[in-house]
Amino acid sequence: MKFPGYIKSKLPQAGTTIFTVMSALAQEHKAINLSQGFPDFLCNEELMHKADEYIRKGYNQYAPMPGLLSLRERIAEKIHSLYGATINPETEITITPGGTEAIYAAITSVVEENDEVILFEPAYDSYAPAIELCKGVPKFIKLEAPDYRIPWDQVKKTISNKTRVIMINTPHNPTGSVLTKSDLQQLERIVRETNIIILSDEVYEHIIFDGHQHESVLRYPGLAERSFVIYSFGKTYHNTGWKMGYCIAPAELMREFRKIHQYIVFSTNTPYQYAFEDIMRNKSLYLDLHSFYQEKRDYFCSLLKQTRFQFKPASGSYFQLVSYKGMSNEKDTDFAIRLTRDYGVASVPVSVFYSKPYDQKMLRFCFAKKKETLDAAIERLIKIK
Ligand code: GLN
Repeated sequence: MKFPGYIKSKLPQAGTTIFTVMSALAQEHKAINLSQGFPDFLCNEELMHKADEYIRKGYNQYAPMPGLLSLRERIAEKIHSLYGATINPETEITITPGGTEAIYAAITSVVEENDEVILFEPAYDSYAPAIELCKGVPKFIKLEAPDYRIPWDQVKKTISNKTRVIMINTPHNPTGSVLTKSDLQQLERIVRETNIIILSDEVYEHIIFDGHQHESVLRYPGLAERSFVIYSFGKTYHNTGWKMGYCIAPAELMREFRKIHQYIVFSTNTPYQYAFEDIMRNKSLYLDLHSFYQEKRDYFCSLLKQTRFQFKPASGSYFQLVSYKGMSNEKDTDFAIRLTRDYGVASVPVSVFYSKPYDQKMLRFCFAKKKETLDAAIERLIKIK
């Protein structure tokens, strides 16, 4: 069929996301898929059982628009015990269908035409399009390998009277870097006495290694009072396909957030909310997640040493960046395609996380995989000469 009229694209630069493209390519070539970030193992048995039980008990109709109050109460308790912040479950938490919708609703609720949003690249791919749809202006600041630290002096210089939001992400996708106490303190100082809102993407809060503590903005009163904080059940409970997450923000911000959220999705999956409320009682499932994933990171990195890739082990998230400098001069997008097609391992080329092509000869591998999957992938990666 052909649309007989005329349509002006609202996102003329956007194609299909790299995660969809690479996962499809992996499937086409029967490659091992280390591209899109998702676990290839089952989630907790009891959690699956609970979801099934609530469906069968008939909890299958709309949940309240902001989410089940009992689940929000459980989240408020968790936040208080982990980060020391007192959050009102009635007015300051909304359950969302995943982190991405929460990011979109948060940006849409505060960014107006010509407002500037400071963000750091490489940046997760949904950030800039959400800003552009509001006719906001993304102001990119580059993070440099190998540590990807935020250059705070540059942040200060980039702030103008049009700056509406600063977006941060820790642990960071795709670099695996984490923000430190000093980073958060500097940010707190910079935004003091401004009208700037922080959007803090903390979906990998429990996937953090080498004894690092997750530095949530909620630990810092001067940041918590002006932040939308985004969390994900999918990352913590190994079920990204359930599309469940939540957003925390002060009541004034959350009121605006909900106005948008209610017209995008109205509410979120009911039986899963009941199931998460139950499973959250078992705190070890999230408190021990860092050691579960550190074992995977260490194992994957020890295997990677047998290949010609260069890397610095990730400090957080379930992604490992590798450099193929010295192995090929191809563009990272071409190299990633060839790796999938000829060697049977799919990755994500890191240049796609930049606003303008910035080819650093880097790939991102997801190590949230079974040992057998990682073994099989390395067996193939060793063959690249
Ligand atoms: N967050 C996941 C990643 O970085 C992908 C999510 C998606 O496919 N949109 O790979």
